[in-house]
Amino acid sequence: MTAHESNERHSRRLGTNESAVRRRSAGQHTVRRHNLALVLGEVAGPQPLSRAGVAARTGLTRGTVSSLVEELIGAGLVSELAAARGGPGRPASPLQLDPRGPAGLGLEVGVDAVGACVVDLTGTVRAQRTARSDHRDDAPDAGLATVAALAREVVAQARLPIAGATVALPGVVTADGVLERAPNLPRWVDVAVGEALRSRLGGLPVRPGNEADLAALAERWAGGPPDAVVVSGGIGVGAGVLLDGTLFAGAGGRAGEIGHVVVEPDGRACHCGGRGCLETVAGLEALLDRANAPDLDALVATHPDAVRAAGRALGIALAGAVHLLDVPAVVLGGAYPRCGPLLLDAVRAELDARVFSRSRVDVRFSTLGPDAALRGAATTVVQEVLADPGAVLAGNGVGAAGTSL
Ligand SMILES: [Zn+2]
Repeated sequence: MTAHESNERHSRRLGTNESAVRRRSAGQHTVRRHNLALVLGEVAGPQPLSRAGVAARTGLTRGTVSSLVEELIGAGLVSELAAARGGPGRPASPLQLDPRGPAGLGLEVGVDAVGACVVDLTGTVRAQRTARSDHRDDAPDAGLATVAALAREVVAQARLPIAGATVALPGVVTADGVLERAPNLPRWVDVAVGEALRSRLGGLPVRPGNEADLAALAERWAGGPPDAVVVSGGIGVGAGVLLDGTLFAGAGGRAGEIGHVVVEPDGRACHCGGRGCLETVAGLEALLDRANAPDLDALVATHPDAVRAAGRALGIALAGAVHLLDVPAVVLGGAYPRCGPLLLDAVRAELDARVFSRSRVDVRFSTLGPDAALRGAATTVVQEVLADPGAVLAGNGVGAAGTSL
């Protein structure tokens, strides 16, 4: 519930003249908050705009725009560049997002790695660290301590106020932010990861998200297709489902768990408790194990049949996803781009053979690299700041926008 809805409900309960006063005040507050976001949205756009330019595009008066811009400058969200000289009339000073403003902290706890990065308001990565850290045999505390230490390092390096953090996790994250289950991390069951990290990071708000979901959002923000299944291939295999440009997480956060779609009914046992899941064929370790290859490069160079088999299994699972969701595009990310055209061709061939429709499914590799989820995690925080700068001004947004760890 938003503050406005809360006020509205409260007012309705009062049922007095006082309620009308409260409603009017809440309405004015909402309009101002909306206008702050509107102005910041224009400043964040591709075209450099002055105050007058923002007024022209938003339909707000110059006076209103100036007052809102002053607030945004005061909050460290916007800066005004020196006026451009040379043209006729009064020189205009272009506005820009302030790269010194509140930044997003992205964190990731993977099956065998951790990562942390800081992305500033303009979308630039200002600090990033990743490290090997295997969590399969450990209780959550060890992994949480490792990622918190990495978080403090990147925040110290970036020297920016941090608005909040999102942590990417390799499992099902419920709507209330609990990591319900991660098949490859057997001891991480029903873990309130956000709360646990918040207390380790000086009260900074930390929101957990599914790794593949955050990678899918990163794909979308990088200009990827609005309707797609974005697969993230690693030890585990997950996917983010984008429908009409929006992430579809499902009722319980399970949407996109494509790694546990069955591709071999009598196949190998999976860590999830099932059998013959996609992950047991096309997961990175399963793939290396089946081919007895030491690493992915060796596998691609010397075991083309194993890569093709993984591609076929992916294609079978993805054909099911396409028939269920009618998405026109599939993006293969994580470690999959390193498998090269052998994998891509096998997935395409399987989809062509199995999906009955005139239009071909567009299958492509992600170009974001293995850090897509980490970057996506940090960018979710930046996107929230841009969508509701009023929350930062009020000091109760995604973060206090000044947190030092
Ligand atoms: Zn499974």
